[in-house]
This record gives sequence, C-alpha cells and structure tokens, in this order.
Amino acid sequence: MYDVCEVKVMNLSDKEVECSHKFIHDSSTGNMSSYLQSKHDIYENQNKV
Ligand SMILES: [Zn+2]
Repeated sequence: MYDVCEVKVMNLSDKEVECSHKFIHDSSTGNMSSYLQSKHDIYENQNKV
C-alpha cells in the first residue's frame, strides 16, 4: 500500500497539480510528516514543537 502526497504544486507549465509523491505505508504517518515539512514547508498540528 502507498500513501500519495496530495499537496498542490505548480508543474512546469504553471498548472496546479497534485505532487503525487508516493510513500510506502508503514502504519505511521511519520514519514509523511517529515516529508511535508522538508519538501513543502507544511507543519501539521499533531505535534507541537
Ligand atoms: Zn509532495
């Protein structure tokens, strides 16, 4: 199973598309959270630092 990144990004033609980066689903969202932070600068509210 995979999770897919649904963050909207601009493609080379300036169109808004889903990032579509695939994650191997490992029963936690840790991978996705750190990916979102490093790649998209998105911080979810689950853990306050
Ligand atoms: Zn992404």
